Amino acid sequence: MTYDPDNIFAKIIRGELPSIKVYEDDLTLAFMDINPQTRGHTLVVSKTAGIDLLSTEDDDLAAAIKTTRKVARAVDKALSPDGIMIAQLNRAAAGQTVYHTHFHIMPRWQGTELKLHNTIPAVMSEIEELARKIATEIE
Ligand code: 5GP
Repeated sequence: MTYDPDNIFAKIIRGELPSIKVYEDDLTLAFMDINPQTRGHTLVVSKTAGIDLLSTEDDDLAAAIKTTRKVARAVDKALSPDGIMIAQLNRAAAGQTVYHTHFHIMPRWQGTELKLHNTIPAVMSEIEELARKIATEIE
């Protein structure tokens, strides 16, 4: 598979599609997932063109995982979940649907099921409020 520069995340990075942003630096961008599998489900994308973890250069991957931890810490402070799941899928058979390198940050609460591959859109005002809470906690 060749990298498609017009995939959804590439368009979000270029500002051609909207997103509810939580954090950004030179190499990475974090924003709320539009079909959240848990409350506070946040995505971290590498700004460098790449399909998945396996094909991403070390420096870009290091930046992405560093941002994932930074944002996960903020999610932890903002939402006080019982646990935090970090997920990263490679190729369709593993469930990948957007072919641009990204990590999932999914806060988890005891007794609350994960809505795996959720297709129910988030309520925008709710995820905007969550993004504000998380962004405030970024260190
Ligand atoms: P994957 O299945 O490739 O690991 O994850 C893709 C994720 O992107 C899914 O959780 C899906 O809900 C999310 N997603 C798909 N399209 C959009 C979009 O346009 N905006 C945002 N914010 N998230 C999206």
